[in-house]
Amino acid sequence: MTKELFLEDCYLQECEAAVLEAVEDKIILDQTVLYPAGGGQEQDTGFLEQDGRTFEVYSVKREGGRIVHYVRNGADLNQGPVRVRVNWERRLGLMRHHTLLHVLGAVVYQKYGALCTGNQIYPDRARIDFNQLQDLTTEQRDDIVKEANRIIAADVPISYRTVSREEAENIPGMIKTVISLLPPSVRTVRLVAIESVDEQACGGTHVRSTGEIGGMEITDIKSKGKNNKRLEVRAV
Ligand SMILES: [Zn+2]
Repeated sequence: MTKELFLEDCYLQECEAAVLEAVEDKIILDQTVLYPAGGGQEQDTGFLEQDGRTFEVYSVKREGGRIVHYVRNGADLNQGPVRVRVNWERRLGLMRHHTLLHVLGAVVYQKYGALCTGNQIYPDRARIDFNQLQDLTTEQRDDIVKEANRIIAADVPISYRTVSREEAENIPGMIKTVISLLPPSVRTVRLVAIESVDEQACGGTHVRSTGEIGGMEITDIKSKGKNNKRLEVRAV
């Protein structure tokens, strides 16, 4: 098991680690600050440093319960100590857009009762799908943007807690599909809260407070089948 330091501190940019396995370009570490693709959030990129050499990490994936770092010339790495560094500009973009989707999900749920059914997060944009959301008028669209920007400007803190699976399932507005997808062996759930606004089960990385998002705009709204809408957004 690789210790996932990004869950404890999303702002950790570097760590010391040990190379446990190096097979071709697939590297297993004992701990990492690099987020593997998951939950709609794109993977981090970054660097490993060992004995004065720098190796590029071009992808990070969760494979068979392990975190695999894909490293250019990774076969040249020796087992033992290594320094891990995240491509911070990319990660911060991912964190801003990820947190933005939580804000937007809360606003759309409060106004229309629609829950998120999927999302995709990139460093410079994101999209979120809602079930049971009718066509929006220009006024409704503007109203969503205004409320999301109000929450962003209020600089609301983001916090985490871990609860039992049963407790998480009974929180109103909780996206239950996220919890139902967890293997039965997982008995506790990590919740991320935008204080007094929203709380969701999530294993991704987020900014410290909504003000870090800056501001938001909706760039497009697409229909994805009957009553399903895809909102494309970006932080500005
Ligand atoms: Zn999240």
